[in-house]
Amino acid sequence: MSTTRPPRALTTREQFAALDAADPLAPLRQLFDLPPEVLYLDGNSLGPLPKATANRVQQAVRDEWGRGLITSWNHAGWIDLPRRLGDKLARLVGAAPGELVVADSTSVNLFKVLSAALALQREAPQRRVIISERSNFPTDLYIAQTLAASRGLELRLLSAEQIPAALDETVAVLMLTHVNYRTGAMHDMAALTQAAHAAGALTIWDLCHSAGAVPVELNASGADFAIGCGYKYLNGGPGAPAFVWVHARHAARFEQPLAGWMGHAAPFQFDPTYRPAPGITRALCGTPPVLSMVALECGLDTVLAAEPLGGLRALREKSLALTRCFADLVDARCAPHGISVISPRADVQRGSQVCLTRADGGYAIVQALIARGVIGDFRGGEPGVPDILRFGFTPLTLRYVDVFDAVEHLVQVMDHEEWRAPRFNQRQAVT
Ligand SMILES: *Cc1c(COP(=O)(O)O)cnc(C)c1O
Repeated sequence: MSTTRPPRALTTREQFAALDAADPLAPLRQLFDLPPEVLYLDGNSLGPLPKATANRVQQAVRDEWGRGLITSWNHAGWIDLPRRLGDKLARLVGAAPGELVVADSTSVNLFKVLSAALALQREAPQRRVIISERSNFPTDLYIAQTLAASRGLELRLLSAEQIPAALDETVAVLMLTHVNYRTGAMHDMAALTQAAHAAGALTIWDLCHSAGAVPVELNASGADFAIGCGYKYLNGGPGAPAFVWVHARHAARFEQPLAGWMGHAAPFQFDPTYRPAPGITRALCGTPPVLSMVALECGLDTVLAAEPLGGLRALREKSLALTRCFADLVDARCAPHGISVISPRADVQRGSQVCLTRADGGYAIVQALIARGVIGDFRGGEPGVPDILRFGFTPLTLRYVDVFDAVEHLVQVMDHEEWRAPRFNQRQAVT
């Protein structure tokens, strides 16, 4: 897709610095409060802190809560936050205003949309199967497992290659994560949605590793439902609220399984009977977490700040260039240490991360890198699946020299066998 690719196999730091000097997105880094000694390659797990966030949250606490007290639900617009942020986020995922709200967590929103999708298939009792990918993120699988079990349905877990052929008249829902959290492999959302529809199935897309990093076209691809995360590439802060989108053609028939008062047509009439709000508002359940919402808005604004510079298309170009440079350098410099790239090489199949693997020592290598200020993460321990050293590339903050420096650190860790130190081999709770 790129016409502005840097030439392959750059090898000197000067070459990378030259790419930074020519990078039109470089000023966006100034929007973030980054610790100077850290090279942060984990924005796909927890986005970095925007400079605006601390003041905005403080203002919400001190003025809106402290002075405005309960009047701030109206006067500071707290009650509209789920929809207002939803409209901003819609711009980043190819949705229209009024189609998306910010609420709850990804896990909870998946429960809502999967349950609603199954309800839409109620007239087709022969559709007893939910299809997903075996390597999908576990929380998605757990939600689907328990929902399927409670309805007497089958959750069928397949490899990506097996999915198209498995779409038949028994399938109710195809539930996929757009960019795989482990490998960074990206599905063709439009093609799979079309194939699912041709078989009469509905689609749910989890955008946790796409929203804010990869252009997503929900309406253009014809998807049915989508959910995603606020704390990864959207920079909303730890535990930021998630989002939920329902295609307009389903909005009026969307059955919210977690009927709560914020999704009621008139919450402040205190009606004893549930009556769903029109449109996406019914996807809300309880009271929004206001402080987390204002922090998320600062995060959304960092991604929207790229709009005058070409928006997600430009961010995607840079992200692809960063990941390509990283993979090429790792090939050139780390192959002798048994480290190889397992993320897809083809741009259309790769999200915004690069995963490496090595027969052993993966966890310790990541720990040794963190001790050097290069923060990535480790995903492993699953039988039959290679351990993964995972590096996320946030095009808003990362420089090309960061790619060079990260690989240089990795080479040092390997050359000097730093990773063998016992302190790097003790597992912590969060990997
Ligand atoms: C990060 C992530 C989640 C997180 O779900 P929470 O409910 O926020 O804990 C879910 N699914 C995928 C695919 C993810 O990458």
